[in-house]
Amino acid sequence: MSESNIRVEDNGYAIEARDLSIYYGDFRAVERVNLAIRRNEITAIIGPSGCGKSTVLRSFNRMNELYPTACAEGEVIFRGENIYDPDVDPVEVRRRIGMVFQKPNPFPKSIYENIAWGARINGFQGNMDELVERSLRDAALWDEVKDKLQEIGTALSGGQQQRLCIARTIAVQPEVILMDEPASALDPVATLKIEELMQRLKKKYTIVIVTHNMQQAARVSDHTAFFMMNEDRAGYLVEYGPTNQIFTNPQNEMTERYITGRFG
Ligand code: ADP
Repeated sequence: MSESNIRVEDNGYAIEARDLSIYYGDFRAVERVNLAIRRNEITAIIGPSGCGKSTVLRSFNRMNELYPTACAEGEVIFRGENIYDPDVDPVEVRRRIGMVFQKPNPFPKSIYENIAWGARINGFQGNMDELVERSLRDAALWDEVKDKLQEIGTALSGGQQQRLCIARTIAVQPEVILMDEPASALDPVATLKIEELMQRLKKKYTIVIVTHNMQQAARVSDHTAFFMMNEDRAGYLVEYGPTNQIFTNPQNEMTERYITGRFG
């Protein structure tokens, strides 16, 4: 993770999974995934329930290993380095590759502290008021909360809480934001706000989103990865390509059947 490794060989990819398999105990949940995530794009991961979408996403920042039986095989290359190498600090990986979850999970602290706390423990020494404002602005939440920064974050609406979680994630200056069904607990208006926000965020960050909502994947993403399960219930990557192509002219028959709603 040293700074000297930054973009030594810049191939335009933020993250590359190479022969990535993920196990829970003896069960192989994901099989030999090869997937390169382009920088400053939104990549959607779609597929039927249980095909390993969340597992793959969590393996991109070593969050999956927080499950006691989970283990990864293969490589996830980030900044020219395999994040699973023994000398890589998973905490640092998770700062640079942040995560937003399905259920908004702000800390039971003030709106201000929701942003400041993570930044502080990551060693932020600059002007905290400025950081809080910038993060909230970047997450399209500032105007709604600027007069109540000391109020508790969990009292916000679901959509606002999710944008607060996004603000908290970007406050520690990640390069990649992983989003696991970030809008599936939200109403359509709040969902639209998150989708609009994602379009703005991709100018600065790389976004990978897991969604069970194909319309959402088609609306927001630049590239789409379609996963399925094999006969052993292991998830694998069926097809990956520009979103437009996946949804209008898929190369694989299984992709076509899935996106036309004929199974899954
Ligand atoms: P998806 O996100 O596509 O619905 P998941 O990644 O949640 O799929 O799950 C893939 C497979 O891994 C499923 O068979 C699921 O039961 C299993 N799985 C997911 N998380 C765990 C876990 N923490 N422990 C054991 N098995 C898990």
